[in-house]
Amino acid sequence: MIELYDEEQLELNGTVYDLSLHALAATAPSLLPNGWRATFGALLDQLRAVSHPCRARTVFDGFTIEDGSLVLEPRFPDRVVHGIIRKYSRKLGCTCTGCGRPGHTRWLGLTRVPLCAQCYGLRALRTDIKLLLQALETDEPLEKDVILEEDLSPRVRLVLENAWRLLKPQGSSIAVRCISEAALQREAPRLRSLMDELDKQLQGIKGIPPAEPGDGRAG
Ligand SMILES: [Zn+2]
Repeated sequence: MIELYDEEQLELNGTVYDLSLHALAATAPSLLPNGWRATFGALLDQLRAVSHPCRARTVFDGFTIEDGSLVLEPRFPDRVVHGIIRKYSRKLGCTCTGCGRPGHTRWLGLTRVPLCAQCYGLRALRTDIKLLLQALETDEPLEKDVILEEDLSPRVRLVLENAWRLLKPQGSSIAVRCISEAALQREAPRLRSLMDELDKQLQGIKGIPPAEPGDGRAG
């Protein structure tokens, strides 16, 4: 976790460089996703370790997270400091923002964010269920009486595991899994409560952007 410097100690022997690191540590908890805290704390430790009077002009104004990447730049160019930041930015790029496990950059709607398979799966399943429920609530839901397995995303197929029926299309000897629209409507309350459950879980994970329509389709 991020360790704060002792205030009095800083006043006694703090350089401007140390003070700006201290300010970074102070703002980090409110800005960082949960999954990035440990790695960001290690980055600050490394930056503290290279504190030296020669870095009197190496000052940080703060950091931002843009498009799933850490943006942290000292005001004055510093090769050593840049090297440390580069190394840890790469680490953060493959660290799940939700839980801190290994992950990679994934698209969520128009946003890119590093996520592990599990955190991404939760988020994408929530979006898939939401889109399906929205389709069921319209006047002409799905425009089909029978919905084939292939019409739905792999994640939703798993959720509907017990609702599938086998259907042999005319002239074909191979049965396919399908679900009638009426059966799908009967599943709607269960899907709704599953979506609420996913919402609760996702709210507990700071670092996964809130759901928006149209995302999660590519994964
Ligand atoms: Zn994760």
